[in-house]
Amino acid sequence: MPAVLRVALPLPLPTLFDYLPPAAGESHVGSRVLVPFGRGKRVGVVVAIDAEATIGSHRLKQVVRLLDDAPLLDAELMRTLAWAADYWLGAPGEAYANALPLSLREARPLPAIGDEYWSLTPSGRSTHDAGGRRGGSQALLAALAAGASSAQELTEGLPGWRAAARRLAEAGLLERSERPPLDHHPLPASLAPQLSDEQHQAVAAVGACLGQYQPFLLDGVTGSGKTEVYLALIEQVLAQGRQALLLVPEIGLAPQTVRRLRERLGVIVEVLHSNLSEGDRARAWLRARAGTARVILGTRSAVFTPLPQAGLIIVDEEHDSAYKQQEGFRYHARDLALVRARALGVPVLLGSGTPSLESLANAESGRYRSLHLRARPGATRPPQVQIIDMRAQRLEHGLSPALLTAVAETVARGEQALVFRNRRGYAPVLLCHSCGWHAECSRCDRPLTLHAGRRQLICHHCDYRQRLPDACPSCGATELKAQGQGTERLEEALVTQFPQVPVLRVDRETTRRRDAFEQLLGTLRDDQPAILVGTQMLAKGHDLPNLTLVAMVGVDEGLHSVDFRASERLAQLVVQVAGRAGRARKPGRVLLQTHQPDHPLLRGLLAHGYAAAARGLLAERRQIQLPPYSHQVLLRADAGLREHVDAFLADACAALPPDGAWQLAGPMPAPMPLRAGRHRSQLLLEAVSRSVLHGMLRSWQLALLALPSARRVRWSLDVDPIDL
Ligand code: ADP
Ligand code: ZN
Ligand code: ZN
Repeated sequence: MPAVLRVALPLPLPTLFDYLPPAAGESHVGSRVLVPFGRGKRVGVVVAIDAEATIGSHRLKQVVRLLDDAPLLDAELMRTLAWAADYWLGAPGEAYANALPLSLREARPLPAIGDEYWSLTPSGRSTHDAGGRRGGSQALLAALAAGASSAQELTEGLPGWRAAARRLAEAGLLERSERPPLDHHPLPASLAPQLSDEQHQAVAAVGACLGQYQPFLLDGVTGSGKTEVYLALIEQVLAQGRQALLLVPEIGLAPQTVRRLRERLGVIVEVLHSNLSEGDRARAWLRARAGTARVILGTRSAVFTPLPQAGLIIVDEEHDSAYKQQEGFRYHARDLALVRARALGVPVLLGSGTPSLESLANAESGRYRSLHLRARPGATRPPQVQIIDMRAQRLEHGLSPALLTAVAETVARGEQALVFRNRRGYAPVLLCHSCGWHAECSRCDRPLTLHAGRRQLICHHCDYRQRLPDACPSCGATELKAQGQGTERLEEALVTQFPQVPVLRVDRETTRRRDAFEQLLGTLRDDQPAILVGTQMLAKGHDLPNLTLVAMVGVDEGLHSVDFRASERLAQLVVQVAGRAGRARKPGRVLLQTHQPDHPLLRGLLAHGYAAAARGLLAERRQIQLPPYSHQVLLRADAGLREHVDAFLADACAALPPDGAWQLAGPMPAPMPLRAGRHRSQLLLEAVSRSVLHGMLRSWQLALLALPSARRVRWSLDVDPIDL
């Protein structure tokens, strides 16, 4: 009886596929194979080598070609991926497809990873030390003085470096190599700050657990010195010859962090995120697999990076919802980081100034060890927070007199102010004053946002766009009024009020290009007054030492949401945005403009801080048995016709095993019942016991796949959904 290969193929089906081994070569679990499928061929990953086939072996097809002599995915990754596919109800092949960079999912030989590295020659080092050379050459010498760099890193950090490299190499000051030099030259210890007692304790606690699995939650606001803790720990990991993986929620955070890591650690920092070219991404992934990449910084999908010499995994801003993939394979990178750390036998450090309630509950139950950074090093006092009661105020484009006065005082002192509003565009509603008509997206049943600069109405849910009408389409009146404020309108109002001060708007519209965000903030001089207007994007990234006033406009919307996580999100947002004020030596001030000055969440947050507010929210969740004290699975369905959605969800209910230890909510309309012309409904399963829920999910999923009504809808199962 020949062995049978069980292969995961990148298809949304919850099964593996059996093939006969290829004519040539020895197959391994974790190797890629090219197999016949349907009328074409596909690349899959060997998941198991079994003696027995699930169907008669005379019907099995043979693998066309073995693509890897040695496993591409090691045993740990294979186990972790199998676990992840099972837990998040993914198709096995989809989990593997998420783990592998795109170009490694093709039937091509692996790209060579011995690529391009540059370092100083001894005479290059003396030229640098003597301060010789100017301009681009000098910048390149300085960059390499901290240690060798890959071409990719140089391109990210020093545009136009190649011309300088050519000149300097001709002069014998630089040399090029194919492999990364393994030695590292950290900056002299004198340049690293002396760690505070709290930082020291955190480093000691995690450092004592290197070589074993232990989760830690490092709770410290932005600016409290978490990154210094990461750096000290990564240094220890490097000294042991091991690898460190640092996850960040957004690429926007990456450039500054890369610079800091590399300067301090003196090693090449591999960056893995979705904006890389596919070739670069594959090479970085392969360098991690080869163990030559020692420090890997990446966003969500970097959690799948191979770490043959793993030493430590860090998840920065662990509360950030960007870690959850919201389509296809719906995994959570933070949770997966924990699973990997356990499999690898290394500590995992979750850092946040506003930890998720899930992580706080894990810390409370003793599953995670808590570490705290309470003091802000170097900074003066924590920012002073104040509520502005908007009721009965005369507003200038949504800005209260108290807010405008505070901005005026700030810029008069030569300092910077940030006006935060989490809505792009000019105004969220365009209204006819004569007849009450308002512009609405017919495919979503939601108001269209007015974008005045582009003279367009845009649906923020489905991206439908139309030209701004000159007159009311309903009554013909020309008196169309913009209702409410978006960042574009606030920018206009602030420009009018403060014509002599630069006003910078930061939202998805003004930062469409890659790196535009960093560049925009980079134009801010530390010693000049300025006003920033922007969305959530401004909550993080780039340190702004001259920013002393943060004014939040329109926080009320977060107080009214139906999502039970809205309070947690609002508390996190307020604390994160407020944390931008007063980072350096100057004291900061935070204003919250609201119509509900007595709201208990806002009051509690201001009086007692995030930790206390989070404890209160956790107590509420416990009482009404919401996550993290219960577990949820959401079945979402949408279709062009409402009947199709209703029929499918009714069948889905009927397909549930009878009287299980779970609660069922729905079928009910989704929070947005119509989106892009599709009707949407959902069904929520909830259970106190995770194993009870998981015990029935796979069979239910298979039952759903077999339903005829399932073919007329788009549907998905979301385990631990973070959006209801
Ligand atoms: P976080 O990662 O929590 O936002 P950082 O580690 O970036 O905080 O620290 C904020 C600022 O304080 C940085 O400029 C950092 O260099 C500085 N800093 C951190 N720890 C210390 C320390 N022990 N002594 C002096 N400065 C420090
Ligand atoms: Zn009208
Ligand atoms: Zn729409």
